[in-house]
Parts: sequence; structure tokens; C-alpha cells
Amino acid sequence: MGTDCLFCRIVAGEIPANIVRETATTLAFRDINPKAPTHVLVIPKEHYADVATLAQGDPGLAAEVLATAATVAEDEGLLADGFRLMFNTGAYAGQEVFHVHAHLFGGAPLGPMLC
Ligand code: IMP
Repeated sequence: MGTDCLFCRIVAGEIPANIVRETATTLAFRDINPKAPTHVLVIPKEHYADVATLAQGDPGLAAEVLATAATVAEDEGLLADGFRLMFNTGAYAGQEVFHVHAHLFGGAPLGPMLC
């Protein structure tokens, strides 16, 4: 995608991010405006607009995003108490950055919904 995608620019190292995990195909970094004590975004390095496009276009890569999220959850000490993974998909659902990202929330009781 390139220069007009914020998260592609983070992948390229053009915009700084607080990276917590990187694999050959995925990147996890802290949300700049955290909504929970732990709030990490997990993305594929390759550009897909949303989780539906990713899951239909490359289900193996979608699974790698989930695996990275699970490893970050473990690293952040969230496995015992639990955590939430959320994909806003489309503007109607509140998606603002159109490079697919899983929100990983944890570190406090989250209640039934965050929105
Ligand atoms: P969305 O509403 O699901 O698209 O979520 C986009 C998220 O990206 C929001 O939670 C923002 O706080 C976060 N965000 C926007 N810019 C940056 C950044 O430069 N670094 C890290 N997180 C960002």
C-alpha cells in the first residue's frame, strides 16, 4: 500500500512505534491512545484493509496474526485473567485505520463491551 497507509509506514520504519513483538510476517505495537492497561495492536506486515479481506485473501496470514496476539498476551501476563481481541471492520464499526489490526486489550476487568 505504502505512503498513505499509517501502519504500512510503521512497518517500513518511517513512523516510530513502541514495538512489543515482530515476526517475519506480523508486527505488534502499543496503541498510541490506550483504552486499557494493556492495549496492543497486532497487524500483518502485508497490507490488507480489514479482517474480512485478510481472512478471505490469506487465511494462513490471519492465523499468524492471531498467533502473534496470543504470544503477546502471554508475554504481557494476560493468559490467567483473560484478554479481549477485537477487529473493527469498516467505518460503520468504527474502523479508522484501514490496515487490518487486532486490538489486544487486557490488564483490568473489561466488562461486556468497550464501546
Ligand atoms: P480503529 O478505530 O480500530 O481503526 O483503531 C485504530 C487505532 O490506531 C486507534 O486505537 C488509535 O489510537 C491507534 N493509532 C493511531 N495512530 C497510531 C500510531 O501512530 N501508533 C499506534 N497506534 C495508533
